[in-house]
Amino acid sequence: MIKLLLLPAILLLFFSCASSTLNEHAPEIKKPMYAPDYDNGDSIFINVKIAIDEKGWNSKTPEYFKAELKKQWDQINFRFNNSDKKKQLKRKYRFNPDIDDIVVYSGCSYWGENGANTKVINKMDKNIFKLVVVYDFFYEGAEAGEYGGGCGNDDGIGTILVINASDGMKNKYNDHFGVYTYRAITHELGHFRGLIDLYAEVIEAENNPVSHEKFMPPHCLMNDFCYTPDAESYWSDYAIKIINKVGNQKKADLIDRMMYEDFPDKMLVSVKKDGNPVAATVKLFPAEYDEKKWSSVIREVPFNTYQLTDGTYNVADLRKLFFVSESLWNRRHVFLAEATVGTEKKYQWISDYLMHDCGLDGKKIYELSFSF
Ligand SMILES: [Zn+2]
Repeated sequence: MIKLLLLPAILLLFFSCASSTLNEHAPEIKKPMYAPDYDNGDSIFINVKIAIDEKGWNSKTPEYFKAELKKQWDQINFRFNNSDKKKQLKRKYRFNPDIDDIVVYSGCSYWGENGANTKVINKMDKNIFKLVVVYDFFYEGAEAGEYGGGCGNDDGIGTILVINASDGMKNKYNDHFGVYTYRAITHELGHFRGLIDLYAEVIEAENNPVSHEKFMPPHCLMNDFCYTPDAESYWSDYAIKIINKVGNQKKADLIDRMMYEDFPDKMLVSVKKDGNPVAATVKLFPAEYDEKKWSSVIREVPFNTYQLTDGTYNVADLRKLFFVSESLWNRRHVFLAEATVGTEKKYQWISDYLMHDCGLDGKKIYELSFSF
């Protein structure tokens, strides 16, 4: 099963293409001996299988791509490690692009049976490579479907697609060696290490008709710091906890499975007035994605209402509140919680990442507290 975590802006693109046969004219390149990904106690070494579309490959020399890829992956490695500004990562990370055996593919770049990801995975040693990065230098149009760049997962193999599918760049050579691309790829490597898109949980004040306040997850490469310069970018504490926990693992459904397993079991809602428990009503207003606005909005109809007769309420199965079905991918991400005591109202945000963060700290109960 493939799930896509799309990039914000720059590489979020759509495309289509024609045939789907492997390029039989790709140059023969001697493949170096590779060890599987490993952790030596100081650093984690991760092999990266690189693929390039045939038209792109033929438009430059192999030497050009090798030199640019080497430079780009040095930039990526620097950014990935340098974004640990508080020195909390337990390991350094070294992503090694296999520039001596680049796979050249023809046909579509999208994920799926005829997609470049499948073609490349079929050609590589899955014991050695757990990460594929597909570069499409010629966007060919969205006529045959809509497919975007980003990070997917093929039964435990991470697949990143680098493509610029803006209409203006159709059938032209798209340079993927600029500053935004290496930053975008570093964001995608965050997904590869188990991180969700925090930017997807932002609620703008104008999309919150209940309290008119904005919800902003922490600064992070997975949020608003995706494209900022290296000196200003960092991983949030939440992201660091996950990267450290994942270590050198790679398996199917890593992101959602980890979140589900580390989720707190319960949520204890409490309301106090002047320091004492007080009867209150607590409503949870859900955030839902609005396709017309291209962003999440708070709905004015509460998803749940809790009556707190003695100032507390125990949400016994917290996972059920957030995880919609057995497909852990399908989640409610954010709620605005409103407590009412008499005529007074107070607000708090709760979200899947806040719950997960609490669980990663070893807490089984999330405390949602209001003070009047
Ligand atoms: Zn993303």
